[in-house]
Amino acid sequence: MESAKKHYANGQLQAEIARRVSYRTESQASEQAAQLHVYLKLELEAVLSRMGFTCLIVDNPLSGKPPLLFAERHEGDDLLTVLTYGHGDVVRGYDDQWSDGLNPWKLNVQGDKWYGRGTADNKGQHSINLAALETVIKVRNGRLGYNVKCLFETGEEIGSPGLKRYCELNTRQLKSDVFIASDGPRLSASQPTIFLGSRGSVLFELSINLRSGGLHSGNWGGLMRNPATILANALASMVDGKGRILIPDLLPPPISPLIKTTLGKLSISDALMGREIDKHWGEPGMSSAEKLLGWNSLEVLAFTSGNPANPVNAIPPNAKAFCQLRFVVDTRWEELKAILRKHLDAHGFESVDVKVQRGTAATRLNPDNVWVRWAEQSMKSVLDREIAILPNLGGTLPNDVFANVLGLPTLWIPHSYPGCAQHAANEHMLASIADEGMQIMTSLFWDLGELTPEQMHQS
Ligand SMILES: [Zn+2]
Repeated sequence: MESAKKHYANGQLQAEIARRVSYRTESQASEQAAQLHVYLKLELEAVLSRMGFTCLIVDNPLSGKPPLLFAERHEGDDLLTVLTYGHGDVVRGYDDQWSDGLNPWKLNVQGDKWYGRGTADNKGQHSINLAALETVIKVRNGRLGYNVKCLFETGEEIGSPGLKRYCELNTRQLKSDVFIASDGPRLSASQPTIFLGSRGSVLFELSINLRSGGLHSGNWGGLMRNPATILANALASMVDGKGRILIPDLLPPPISPLIKTTLGKLSISDALMGREIDKHWGEPGMSSAEKLLGWNSLEVLAFTSGNPANPVNAIPPNAKAFCQLRFVVDTRWEELKAILRKHLDAHGFESVDVKVQRGTAATRLNPDNVWVRWAEQSMKSVLDREIAILPNLGGTLPNDVFANVLGLPTLWIPHSYPGCAQHAANEHMLASIADEGMQIMTSLFWDLGELTPEQMHQS
């Protein structure tokens, strides 16, 4: 723990993150494609090789998509194996939107905040984990007492293309006992957090195309169908004016007693969220934690008809809405198209077309799993604080790949917080969390070496 604290206090961790932030690994910008490989090679392969890993930078199984890195450090066949993960890509810099004096590609320290693109998502987080692992290797004189596998991708911000395929094709190579990684936010800056999965997300489009051009509202109004009116009513039949989902098939089964108890320990308050929560929004009778982490939400993301910038006196010919369902495990999201079709037809909205775009499954490890209790214990031993345990994150991560394709118990230990401005200008990491993160991960990577497979295989 002394070495871990020193790695933070002497500026080494900050220097590593600063160096990594300087690579423009914007996976959404095709002109930066070469940087993704450079980052894997010069940053991740370099540090992993130094730590005794065998590294393999591999082409994405989907042609033209960004590369991945697989690394392995093997100490013995009878030992536990941990799989970890991170992503080297970041969203676009939006360079001109940052506050005065800030540059997304140059780490800038202001008080407790370390500004820079990727500090929170995900370079800062995987830098902490790699530094903690290296600390344990050094202090234990080169021996961890378990095996480690690492998987890094460089396309997370464009939907992790090929990640699932890679794991499906390499289940033997990736076989492990547990998954531990870091991404996303803590419940709040001051609460060390473990989340055990994520809500899923599926995007869909509703549209009505009635005719090729607008019709004068004086000559035709009252005679001809208005697609905007129909679509607004179709949406209103799906989700009411207080955010409650009205299609039973789009809801999960009732929240189980165990999940209710787990969520009951989390207080999601105005203070914690940094803004006043709309108390009467969402499923009636549920707590904020249940609404956000134990239930589904249906959002209208964008809705257009006619030309809002220059309205004319005409019945518009078409209307379109982009929607998203965030959902927890056991939601029948893969049947979304059929569910929506049936609902719309039953309510007289046959003219509304449904197009389901991409979706990611929801996951959730049982909060009673032996690995969860182990991690909670290990974290408590260094911080002596309550650990927030979230059955799943409210947001979405490619965790179904690890939980479902590889069948692993998944523990996510985030080193960021809700105000980190991830995906926006002024993204930052909190130095205080980086400091704690070093200690938490060092504790976990240390304690892992004292477990035997027999102890954990009851999971
Ligand atoms: Zn992200």
